[in-house]
Formats: sequence, structure tokens, C-alpha cells
Amino acid sequence: MTTAQESSSLGLQRSRPRVVIVGGGFGGIYAARRLRGVDVDVTLLDRGTSHVFQPLLYQCATGLLSEGEISSPLRHLLRGVRNVHVALGEAQGIDAVGRVLTASRFDGSTFELPYDYLIVAAGMRQAYHGHDEYIQWAPGMKTLDDALAIRRKLICAFEMAESLPTAEERRPWLTFAVAGGGPTGVELAGQIRELAMHALANEFQSIDPCEARVLLFHGGDRVLQSFNRKLSAAAQRTLDKVGVETHLGVHVTDVCETSIETTAKNAARTKKRYGARTVLWTAGVEAVPFAAALANALGVKQIQGGRIAVEPDLTVPGHPNVWVIGDLMSLNDLPGVAEVAMQGGRHVGGCIARTIEGGTPDRKPFKYRDLGSAAYIARRHALLQAGPIRMSGFLGWVSWGAIHIAFLAGYRNRFGTLLNWAVTLASRTRRERAITYGDPESARQPYTDLTTESIAVTRPER
Ligand SMILES: Cc1cc2nc3c(=O)[nH]c(=O)nc-3n(C[C@H](O)[C@H](O)[C@H](O)COP(=O)(O)OP(=O)(O)OC[C@H]3O[C@@H](n4cnc5c(N)ncnc54)[C@H](O)[C@@H]3O)c2cc1C
Repeated sequence: MTTAQESSSLGLQRSRPRVVIVGGGFGGIYAARRLRGVDVDVTLLDRGTSHVFQPLLYQCATGLLSEGEISSPLRHLLRGVRNVHVALGEAQGIDAVGRVLTASRFDGSTFELPYDYLIVAAGMRQAYHGHDEYIQWAPGMKTLDDALAIRRKLICAFEMAESLPTAEERRPWLTFAVAGGGPTGVELAGQIRELAMHALANEFQSIDPCEARVLLFHGGDRVLQSFNRKLSAAAQRTLDKVGVETHLGVHVTDVCETSIETTAKNAARTKKRYGARTVLWTAGVEAVPFAAALANALGVKQIQGGRIAVEPDLTVPGHPNVWVIGDLMSLNDLPGVAEVAMQGGRHVGGCIARTIEGGTPDRKPFKYRDLGSAAYIARRHALLQAGPIRMSGFLGWVSWGAIHIAFLAGYRNRFGTLLNWAVTLASRTRRERAITYGDPESARQPYTDLTTESIAVTRPER
């Protein structure tokens, strides 16, 4: 099939300028929406079918919310935007001279998308800092697959512990280690303790889930370093209160099937090994693989974890028709948060719209309005930092909830999530805990096959 035929099969009219957006995350969606009604044909390409609300991934991972509540099908989200077409595929590379993007389908075949304007909003993935061998034991927290893999690990760990006869055998199954004391690590650690203390507390006969140890390892001298010291201290007090054991000033230096090793960052370099069958990794991010192909084709270098440096108007230097936005761009140390991606998407959509309408390129610089940041710590405790406003505890928690509901895509998800939170608060239960058999992932996770003889149905000592 020729490129022209491919284009027409995607519903594009060749007469109008073509915009291709790579990534249906926050940046991509906001760019596509800003181009509604503009005289261009837009193709939004994503390797998945849904826009994922990453800020609530950890609630999906810990059985509070379903994957459907934190994601929305891209086709549904953009159904009313008539000049935007959604394409499923993974961007592989571009021909910067011919202005053609190549993408692959699920079956490995490839297709081409010609463009006049290219917006790349492909985000970041979890970084293992040269230790990709950890991935098999320590899933990260960037995608729905990650959240579901973590959920499987958590639920299976409690089930395994329940089935083992001695306290010594159960201990590593009831020890959960989280690497990284940023917002994701803190949220995950707090949620695992809540899962153990509330949702699972009265559901097991042999184990007491409340005995679950949650270890949080962080290289810095305080958790949540992007928040001010007072807020981070308040978060630490709450973590202590809910029973998360925080270890600061350490690097994780080994992860295997049964344990995790840390090394102190101080001169003593003391090593410690903890028996833990569940290790979760939130310690850093790096660019998705497509960024390398893009940088290569555009003749630019990747910096800061593989990000691509952009001009003040978010274009790639020397390529006025290619923009990189969101987590993948590097500009003035802007943080990798949803607001930067959303505002970037709107900005670029606006630049293209004005270029089309005015007939001359619009190179307006991007101005970021910092609306603040928030982090959930535990029930009735969250942090909010916005300009001079600093909130923690209950007020922070209410504000955190309101912000997250406001930014969730779609009324159905907002209503469903609110209802789920209310029921969980009142009943302390979590219903998203179904673990299925026959998942391809199970081949990589030896303890997930609960049908084997390895699970003795005994009444172990407490
Ligand atoms: C667990 C977690 C919690 C967070 N909490 C917060 C928070 O509380 N507040 C906040 O402001 N921010 C938070 N963030 C950060 C926020 O989610 C990101 O800053 C934001 O998602 C970045 O948007 P983006 O559009 O750049 O990338 P993403 O939202 O990551 O979207 C990238 C998209 O590109 C697609 N993609 C990648 N490669 C390809 C390819 N080759 N071809 C096609 N498609 C591709 C992906 O499938 C994805 O849909 C959190 C992030 C995580 C992981």
C-alpha cells in the first residue's frame, strides 16, 4: 500500500496541512483538543488505546481503583473532534527531510504517516540506571501494565504468606520494599500499608496482614524533596504513623527474587540486605526508546535522562515544524508534571492554529504557569504546595482529591472514582483485587501460579 493510500485509509484529506501527534498522554490530548476546528488534519498516534491518568496509577496498583477508572479510550475522548483521527501504533522513526513518520502495528507490520507539523509527546519510562536485570523482580510505575503487575505481586504475596507454615517462611512475603522516596514511592508505600491495615486486615485466617512491613528506600536526606522542608517533614510523620519504615541516604545496589540490598551513601558505605519478595521501583525515569530515533533523525543530542532540549517555543533547534512537549522535553528545568505537558500541548496547538490562520510561522515562547503540586500520603493526609499556599493533613487531602477529580478524563471516571473513594473510606474495603490465571506475565513471576502444589493449605502458626 502506498503512503497516499495509507493516509486516505486513516481518513486524511491530502489538501490540508497534516499534523501528527505522537502520544495520547496529557501533552498529546491537550494539543489535539486545541487543534479542534483548525483547518488541519490531525493524526494522534499512541501505542495504547487509552489515555492513562498516571497520577492515580498507584491506586489502581493497590486495588482501590480499576484500570477503567483511571483511563479513557482515546477514540472516545476525541470522538467529537472531527479533524482528529486516532491511530494505534508505536512510532519507530522519522524521515526529517521527507517529513514522514514510520510506526509499527501490533503484528509488527509498519505504516507511514506524512506530516507537515510533528508534535512529540511520548513521555518517559522507568529508569533502572544500567540495571535492567532488576526489571523482572522490581516493576516500575509508569504504565497500566506496571500497575496491574504490581497489583498481582501485592495480592499474591499476601496469599503466599497465608499458605506457608512458619513465620520465618512468611516473613519475606510480608515484606514490601519500595525504591525511591519521590511522590510515586511515598504514595505507593502509604497505600500498601493502608491495604494491609484496612482492606485485608480481617480477611485472612493464618496471617495478620497488619504485620506487613513496608520499607521505603531513598537516596536523599528527606522524602518528597520537590516539596518544601516543612511539608516533607509532615509527610514523614504520617509515613511513620502508618508504619512505613523509611531508610534515607541509601542506594539500592542489588535486587533479586528474594531480597534487596542497599548501600549507605556516606563514607562507611555500609551494605544491608533485606528479605523481600516484593520490590517496587520508582527511582527515576528516562526517555522512551523513540526519543533516540527522533534525536538521531533530527541531528540533536539527548540530555538529562534522554530528554530533548527545545527552543523557548518548544520546537527542536533547527526544526521549526517539530515540537517536543511534556515529560520528554527539556526546557529551563521545568518539572515532569502533568501541568507542564497540558500547557505545552495547548501552547503548540495554539502556535499551529495561528500559523495556519495567519499564514506566517508563530514562534511565541512558551510561558509556564506553575499551579503547584500535590501528593497523597495516607487516608486523610496529603500535601499541597501552590505558590505561597502550603497545606498538609486533612485540608491538603481534600484539596488533593478535588484536583485529581477535576483533571480525570470524562464524567464517568470522575463519578466512578468519587464513589469508589467514598465507599472505600466508609467500608475500608478494596474490590479491585481479581488475579487471573494464564496471564503471559505469570511466566516471569514464579509465585503467581497459585494452582501448584507449592501452596500447602495448612494452618500455619501466627
Ligand atoms: C505514578 C505517577 C504519578 C504521577 N503523579 C503526578 C501528580 O500527582 N501530579 C502531576 O502533575 N504529575 C504527576 N505525574 C507526572 C505526569 O503523569 C506526567 O508529567 C505526564 O503524564 C506527562 O505527560 P506526557 O504527555 O508528556 O506523557 P505521558 O502522559 O507519559 O504520555 C505519553 C504517551 O505516549 C505514548 N507513547 C510512548 N512512546 C510511544 C511511541 N513510540 N509511539 C506511540 N506512542 C507512544 C504512551 O503510550 C503514552 O500514552 C505522575 C506520574 C506517574 C508515573
